[in-house]
Amino acid sequence: MAIAIPYADLQLQYQSIKSEIDAAIAAVIHDSAFIRGPFVDAFEKKFARAVEAVHCVSCANGTDALYLAMAALDVQPGDEVITTAHSWISTSAMITHAGAKPVFCDTDATTFTIDPAAIESAVTPRTVGIIPVHLYGQPADMDAIMAIARKHNLWVIEDCAQAHLARYKGKQVGSFGHAATFSFYPGKNLGAMGDAGAIVTGDTALAERMSMLARHGGLVKHQHRIEGINSRLDGLQAAILSAKLPHLPCWTDARQTAAAVYDAGLNQIEDVTVPEVGPNRTHVYHLYTIQHPRRDRLAAYLKDNGVQTAINYPVALPFLQAYERFRHTPEQFPNAHRHQSRILSLPMFAEITADQQQAVIGLIRSFS
Ligand SMILES: *Cc1c(COP(=O)(O)O)cnc(C)c1O
Repeated sequence: MAIAIPYADLQLQYQSIKSEIDAAIAAVIHDSAFIRGPFVDAFEKKFARAVEAVHCVSCANGTDALYLAMAALDVQPGDEVITTAHSWISTSAMITHAGAKPVFCDTDATTFTIDPAAIESAVTPRTVGIIPVHLYGQPADMDAIMAIARKHNLWVIEDCAQAHLARYKGKQVGSFGHAATFSFYPGKNLGAMGDAGAIVTGDTALAERMSMLARHGGLVKHQHRIEGINSRLDGLQAAILSAKLPHLPCWTDARQTAAAVYDAGLNQIEDVTVPEVGPNRTHVYHLYTIQHPRRDRLAAYLKDNGVQTAINYPVALPFLQAYERFRHTPEQFPNAHRHQSRILSLPMFAEITADQQQAVIGLIRSFS
């Protein structure tokens, strides 16, 4: 029996709303509204409303979003910015590109999100901000993080790239920090058909500064008030995202339902650790990531049987070649280090069927 279960299936999602996407693309082409313009303005308003934010500043991708937020907060050489040891490299690389030094903290043992106790001990007189990541779609412990930020007068930028619509104590991620960044990379919970990103904030002056920085340093053509970069959301991506946005709550429910199916099928299997959700948090399952002591052999077994998986991420940030200069050791980040050899992300997308999930569960059971 040859089964083929993809890790994600973007084609299925397109087919389910094909007429809406095709009409959105045709409208942009009809108006030649390719760079900024009404489709971009409309998406910014809709996305701000959807995530319960005041301002949304769109940009070219979720990596630029992090850079723009830090540049607007006036990060200076010599500043230190605290972030998690377990994330995609954008989070830490943009700290460096904004001119500061990334200071990594270990994650907690069960949720894969930054450990607030580790943040407290990483704060120095040079610390200016904290970037928690709502990893895999689960909010970080925002009460504890915001308390540390208030105590030491630090800004907080939430990296929400994997966590659209996730909630902590009933409030949406992105509403806790001074700013929050989103990615609409095609595979994200809300994905464009190319690169796209956004920053949300409740701070009007910060929003204006981020907009300027993203558009060559000015909001009016040829009036460059500062030096910026070119990080624009294009009209096609904005129109596609506006067409998809109304479906996001439904797709999020479907991911949560699929996660519950995996939980029920896998949590009795010795050697499998299913993802744990911390108190007061709703997880939106951008990824469904289990832990297994023989991870590589399990991944190979699933692949041989037609199931695609992924490792997010095979090397924790402090141990990447890019950070060799810091000479970090595994003892400094015991949880992140332990997790990197145990984590495995299973097929997860809104359209995954119960039969596909039972096939994955059956294979994992037969492996164990
Ligand atoms: C995807 C992602 C980013 C970067 O977003 P891009 O749109 O790919 O630039 C940043 N942080 C995290 C945690 C991500 O998952």
